Amino acid sequence: MIPPSLLRHTGQPAALFFHGVEPGTLDSRVQTNHHQLAAFEAILQVLRREFDVRPLSDIDRVLKQPRAHPRTVFLMSDDGYANTLSVAADVLDGLPCTLFVSTAHIGTGRPNPIFLARLFYFHAPNGVYILPHVPGRVVLADEDSRIAAAATGIDPLRYLPAAQAEETIAAMAASFPAGRLQALLARFSSDRFLDWDGVRDLKARGVEIGAHGDTHWPMHAAQDPGWLARQAAGAKARIEAEVGCCRFFAYPFGNTRDIGPLAWRAVRDAGFTHAFTTISGSLTGAPNPWLLPRYGIGPADTRLASLVPLLFAGNRRLRQFQARLAN
Ligand SMILES: [Zn+2]
Repeated sequence: MIPPSLLRHTGQPAALFFHGVEPGTLDSRVQTNHHQLAAFEAILQVLRREFDVRPLSDIDRVLKQPRAHPRTVFLMSDDGYANTLSVAADVLDGLPCTLFVSTAHIGTGRPNPIFLARLFYFHAPNGVYILPHVPGRVVLADEDSRIAAAATGIDPLRYLPAAQAEETIAAMAASFPAGRLQALLARFSSDRFLDWDGVRDLKARGVEIGAHGDTHWPMHAAQDPGWLARQAAGAKARIEAEVGCCRFFAYPFGNTRDIGPLAWRAVRDAGFTHAFTTISGSLTGAPNPWLLPRYGIGPADTRLASLVPLLFAGNRRLRQFQARLAN
């Protein structure tokens, strides 16, 4: 292991993200998006000590002179969970952060579709289910069958066109007896989204507000241009009507298979200046500002001091991805 003090000098600016933060979670099979508070505090300690955490509005200046900013990181939170205000904002205590919200979920009670799918796989009544657009039968019985069904079911769902996926998710929701889904949503309050007053509160506390699509669904090549425009321009218009200027975007899911060639063009044409994937790399690693890399902070990632300076190792793959989407 190379000492962090040496790596610090070879570092390049990077973007890091998390989702929600909870004092404690009840079921790690479904509450997959949340850091435990104590672990998150330890991560923030490392960030404060080892890095220069800058507001995202500095990105143009930082990218113009990256050598002058070897320890600069931009911290981000995705989705817009209510606990980013009730828990994370207090421990961030003014540390610069950008929150990317999926506008259709803010203040509507509409859960994240993958969270709903996880509730189906792990909490729907025992049974054999036939779901629209999902080949074969889904058998939910003991723990093993549920783990297997979730492991094989979620990825095919993720790559469906949005309209089909919504039908599958609706059938999953309909599999619960009356009141049961509402009870689960109340029990797992970690996955409740903010309302617009909460988003405005965060902005008033210095958090930059960016867009994370309208509905929280991948913008891959199976999606049509009208839907992509709603995710990009539609989300931007809504945020600007509710909280003011919005120039940054983060792709839901954001990996190579979640972003099609029309997606980044829809984001560019909507007027965003920068957009973030979840592909690993350093911010100076590839030229397209609408397909920038980001690193997802793990549940107990306290080795960021040695890890972040190595993110440049992903730049080659990032450049190849950008080149593939340029055509
Ligand atoms: Zn997300």
